[in-house]
Amino acid sequence: MGLFDSILLPVKCPFCGEIVQSGQTKNLSNTLISYKVGDDTKSPFKSIRVLYVCESKKCRRPYVIAGNVYYRGRWFEIELELEKGRLTDKYKIWAEPRVQE
Ligand SMILES: [Zn+2]
Repeated sequence: MGLFDSILLPVKCPFCGEIVQSGQTKNLSNTLISYKVGDDTKSPFKSIRVLYVCESKKCRRPYVIAGNVYYRGRWFEIELELEKGRLTDKYKIWAEPRVQE
């Protein structure tokens, strides 16, 4: 299990249209920092990939382990542009829709 950073950028779920408030990335410092648009990440990259999980009723899927029912959301990814290391709000959905099962 690795660490990640949080990106506080609301993105609309490509599956159901609900807004997901934040995502996670492993492309930055991986020290549990929360970044928002305009923050200087000090990253040399032009873009980063950010994972989002949608936990809406439509996207939650049940699964069973040892007779217990759990739920997990659907994942999607965005490619988020950086400008000289600063987070922008420009992105594209990177893998839509991606089948995980
Ligand atoms: Zn969704």
